[in-house]
Amino acid sequence: MSTQPARPASFDKLGGLSYLNPAAPEPWSSFVEQIERVRPYLGSLERWIETLKHPKRTLIVDVPIERDDGTVAHYEGYRVQHSLSRGPGKGGVRFHPDVTLNEVMALAGWMTIKNAAVGLPFGGAKGGIRVDPASVSKGELQRITRRYTSEIGVIIGPNKDIPAPDVGTNAMTMAVMMDTYSMNRGGTATGVVTGKPIALGGSLGRQEATGRGVFITAREAGRSIGLPIEGARVVVQGFGNVGGIAARLFHEAGARVIAVADHTATLVNEGGIDVPAALAHTAANGGLAGFAGAAAIDIEDFWQLGCEFLVPAALEGQITPQRAERIRARVVVEGANGPTTPAADDVLRARNVLVVPDVIANAGGVTVSYFEWVQDFSSFFWSEEEINERLERIMINAFNAISHVATEKQVPLRTAAFIIACSRVLEARAERGLYP
Ligand code: GLU
Repeated sequence: MSTQPARPASFDKLGGLSYLNPAAPEPWSSFVEQIERVRPYLGSLERWIETLKHPKRTLIVDVPIERDDGTVAHYEGYRVQHSLSRGPGKGGVRFHPDVTLNEVMALAGWMTIKNAAVGLPFGGAKGGIRVDPASVSKGELQRITRRYTSEIGVIIGPNKDIPAPDVGTNAMTMAVMMDTYSMNRGGTATGVVTGKPIALGGSLGRQEATGRGVFITAREAGRSIGLPIEGARVVVQGFGNVGGIAARLFHEAGARVIAVADHTATLVNEGGIDVPAALAHTAANGGLAGFAGAAAIDIEDFWQLGCEFLVPAALEGQITPQRAERIRARVVVEGANGPTTPAADDVLRARNVLVVPDVIANAGGVTVSYFEWVQDFSSFFWSEEEINERLERIMINAFNAISHVATEKQVPLRTAAFIIACSRVLEARAERGLYP
């Protein structure tokens, strides 16, 4: 299902490159607007605010491969390092047919904010390839991944910028990226990517970490307004590594997951969905379509289901002002990056819906990526209990700090998270000074 707008007539004459398409969607403008909302709270650091509206480094690469039928195909690849002020770049790589430069810039910016909001010693970066992984063979996908890694090899590295999985990529993608980078360097460099298989220096708990973090922040947000998880009705959009895991944890904690959606189906069961059964169905069939334990509903009806927790855990731009008007949730917990537009944020606030922003709600993944990177450097690996305990502590502390600022300054949690994060990034920026 493509969300891309129609191509202008001139577009194909320009080589069909998405970054020359003036009609492409613009998540970057949402990011810039979120930054602007923090301006009044920055004090003397406001002098540096433009830094955040200028990604430090943006690399566009051509990824040509020979397809299985002997033809040559070209894919657009990106790596954007939005900020390196607080440490190496860090952020995932997205394989999706609708990936654009504008989107990768926004996602890189959100990584800068996320890493700083949680206090991880990283800047922010993101990568992507404009490809539908389901439309190519396994061998083709591996050639795409290897060529992309070689092309961005000039700017990534264990001390420079560390990719990880995102939408459309997984531990196997990271294994291939790690191998390609290592072959080009002449020695194994496990710390160049995180989210790797355990046998290659991956971390226990990494795969579950994003979903676990979503659950922890939902629980803490609920606690802050006297809303228990037990018995709560939960609606989850996206049933992959983030939404699927979060749904399972809600279910295990006694919540009632009443609706789930993925790219194949939108399903409801007011009595409560058997989440483990839905996960087993998805694992066996590649999606929710055909799952018998719930009934199909229209996607627009999905957004207005009455519930305590609504978890958008798919792609950006899903909660528009129109949908925000109809949402009947008490808390929105952003498992995805950028699911709520700034205008929709305002609608939800006016309607007294609490929004737990992406930059904290889905920070569990990159937090355990940080643990993985530290473990790789020290070649000393921690137990899963140790990892989950540390994750829990970091998430709770970050949530409490953000909540405190939100109450003190009477601002939404998103603005509070951005105030903390932008202050940290711009303080580092100011102290480092301009070069030369
Ligand atoms: N792709 C994940 C995110 O958006 C994880 C990034 C990472 O682990 O570096 O936060």
